[in-house]
Amino acid sequence: MTTQSTDVLIIGGGVIGLSIARALARRGCKQVIVIDRAEFGSEASSAAGGMLAPQTEADKPDVFFELACRSRDAYPEFAQALYDETGIDVELETTGTLYTAFTSKDVEEIGRRFEWQHQAGLAVQKLTATEARELEPSISPNLREALLFPKDVQVENRLLIKALILSCDRHGVCLMRDTIAHAVEVTARRVTGVITSRGFYSARITVVAGGAWTSGIVGLLPIPIEPVRGQMLCLQSDSQIVRHVLYSPRGYVIPRRDGRLLAGSTTEHVGFTKTVTPAGIEAIKASTVEISQSISSLPIVESWAGLRPRAPDDLPVLGPCGEIEGLYYATGHYRNGILLAPITGDMIAGAIIDKQLPPLMSAFSADRFSPVSVN
Ligand SMILES: Cc1cc2nc3c(=O)[nH]c(=O)nc-3n(C[C@H](O)[C@H](O)[C@H](O)COP(=O)(O)OP(=O)(O)OC[C@H]3O[C@@H](n4cnc5c(N)ncnc54)[C@H](O)[C@@H]3O)c2cc1C
Repeated sequence: MTTQSTDVLIIGGGVIGLSIARALARRGCKQVIVIDRAEFGSEASSAAGGMLAPQTEADKPDVFFELACRSRDAYPEFAQALYDETGIDVELETTGTLYTAFTSKDVEEIGRRFEWQHQAGLAVQKLTATEARELEPSISPNLREALLFPKDVQVENRLLIKALILSCDRHGVCLMRDTIAHAVEVTARRVTGVITSRGFYSARITVVAGGAWTSGIVGLLPIPIEPVRGQMLCLQSDSQIVRHVLYSPRGYVIPRRDGRLLAGSTTEHVGFTKTVTPAGIEAIKASTVEISQSISSLPIVESWAGLRPRAPDDLPVLGPCGEIEGLYYATGHYRNGILLAPITGDMIAGAIIDKQLPPLMSAFSADRFSPVSVN
């Protein structure tokens, strides 16, 4: 078996593994290897919609909301730095998100959301149906009310992946695709490296960023990361007919600059199958037609499915493993991995280099799944 050595080895080259690698390299870490069993960014990170919308989905202010808002607010600088490094514009669209209400239950829901966010001084506006349809004339006339979240924006996540790969490359990160991590090797409660399909890699630090496949890596604590399938449809318009992300409790439509509109999604507990199904397509069409008849009648040019990595409490798993020295987790980002990429990269790189854990990170520690955890 061949042996190579590195300072930091990252398992998984999705948006999370790549963001961590880039953050480490930018902070001067010289030996960083990222391995992926397939193409970099080809799993959930490419399947996503790219919404950066913590306010749209939050029922209350909690530690996750703080993490998500901080990451969203880091995006303008993140996108600009990636542009400066690579020349790739990740199409950060700052028009905002419209949360649309079509039923009495939806109206109650947005009423509650408006109240707490308005009281907390967050940017949110309540719109009548007429006001919302003035902003977006293609919204269905059945609209009852809407909330405008001007700071909840979106990014073209496939361009983001391209930019991260190029940035990592330019910063000297070694990217190895088609390389499977089979097991993390631990001796005397210290990680010594990773057994891969290309041999053993000895590493001082190992970061697990394997997304929905995390639990299949041997040698980790039993962190139950489950795959949750999400299907997506891509519709095509000749021009950009919508400017805002249109969100409802049952689905969403995300406009891209080139006239594509992503309509999603489903939430399915079906293991590791990534098939697009007739039932999934019908469910997405139903939520899209409710938002806008004209959008739903556009031609479908592509469909796909991806696997969101979900921990039992829906929260990400971030930071060092208390029981195995040198092992770090960055997984379980579930519905928010694109949103959380900048802060995950910064916090994990900071924890490795400065050996200091930001207080915000402790709520997401892997140790909450340890049998002796008191949390
Ligand atoms: C339909 C859909 C819509 C979404 N919309 C949004 C959205 O609008 N906004 C948002 O913020 N998030 C969204 N998400 C969630 C987001 O896509 C994920 O949270 C994020 O991509 C997770 O990133 P990751 O790098 O952890 O996982 P992934 O992108 O899945 O990457 C994990 C990588 O690890 C590799 N890997 C796994 N095991 C091994 C191994 N043993 N050895 C080597 N490599 C391995 C895989 O090949 C993969 O490339 C959406 C997800 C889906 C499916």
